[in-house]
Amino acid sequence: MHEHLIWAEIRLDAIAENIRNLRRAGSSAASMMAVVKANAYGHGAIEVARTALANGAASLGVARMEEGIALRTAGFAAPILVFGPSLSSDIKEMIRYRLTPSVYSMDDALRISEVAITTGKKLPVHLKFDTGMGRLGFTGQALSDPVTTVRKISALPGLRIQGVYTHLATADHPEKEFTRHQIQTFSRLLTSLEGAGLRPPIAHAANSAGLISFPECHFDMVRPGIAIYGIQPSVTMDKEAFPLKPALSLKTKIVQIKTVPAGFSISYGRSWTASKPTAIATLACGYGDGFPRLLSNNAEVLVRGRRAPLRGRICMDLCMIDISGIPDVCTGDTATLIGKDGSDEILAETLAETIGTIGYELVTGLMPRVPRVIM
Ligand code: PLP
Repeated sequence: MHEHLIWAEIRLDAIAENIRNLRRAGSSAASMMAVVKANAYGHGAIEVARTALANGAASLGVARMEEGIALRTAGFAAPILVFGPSLSSDIKEMIRYRLTPSVYSMDDALRISEVAITTGKKLPVHLKFDTGMGRLGFTGQALSDPVTTVRKISALPGLRIQGVYTHLATADHPEKEFTRHQIQTFSRLLTSLEGAGLRPPIAHAANSAGLISFPECHFDMVRPGIAIYGIQPSVTMDKEAFPLKPALSLKTKIVQIKTVPAGFSISYGRSWTASKPTAIATLACGYGDGFPRLLSNNAEVLVRGRRAPLRGRICMDLCMIDISGIPDVCTGDTATLIGKDGSDEILAETLAETIGTIGYELVTGLMPRVPRVIM
């Protein structure tokens, strides 16, 4: 293996296993869309997409058109749904690359249809209804009278409604009431459409937490993201109930070791001072790699299977740890910032929790300069 100062190891076998387990958890009628937006949550979109499709996923979900184009250009033929907004100026590109836009409002539908007509094609779209996320989607009258909404859109010459979906806001919370309300709203909408003979072929709602905790929201397709990567949607979810295999480990090298005397301070701002002679190791990892500065003096790293606390502020390219009490540590040794070393493991979601964020943000925030080493 080529040597790196810092690298993220991506275990595709873990992704494959998570996908297969999630497939089994989904209802037998439901196909799986693997959500690979934001460079597959920092894991590498191409490799993850290939692994997901080889292990039972049937389609891919992205946030932006450019992410879809990158996948098509890499040779993927599977359906690709773009969750995010589509600019009018992008519609022709979307048609060219066979990307499926999401439609959120009647204005959106009219605008997209108008461009699609000029290409002489009917563009397949998925309609997004806002049942409680408060983000994107048909709301108000368009939501309470979905039959009229879908009938109007069906009549547009440039569009063909292939799917209808919603997104869950709290499926990862211990409190289940709001999710049940969202699922019920969406189910009623489907029943109305069915009654009018207007139900689109693919209805979907389940993110990872919905897939794991609410079988009643699997419908025709599930859309897991975070669980594919082996990260629990939130730390309040029962890890044992649905075990996941983390796919990403963040590792770096110890580049210098020194023993500092009592009274010696470490890093910018002198936020930590040794109270006794202390063995300090410098790591080639900083917030310029996406290792959040908020973790300064507030997290541990694994070295030789033991925990070493961060000391002083995390710099852009370097940070320091206390290796006192860990025998035989040498320059060039590996330090594990996320992942397993020996019998101990640092999970992205628990590390994120210490600074008030989520595993999603931590792994997605890993910078492009961190090489992804595919295992
Ligand atoms: N569906 C949509 C529309 C999303 O925006 C996302 C991601 O936020 C997902 C599915 C996947 O969610 P998760 O990563 O929580 O499984």
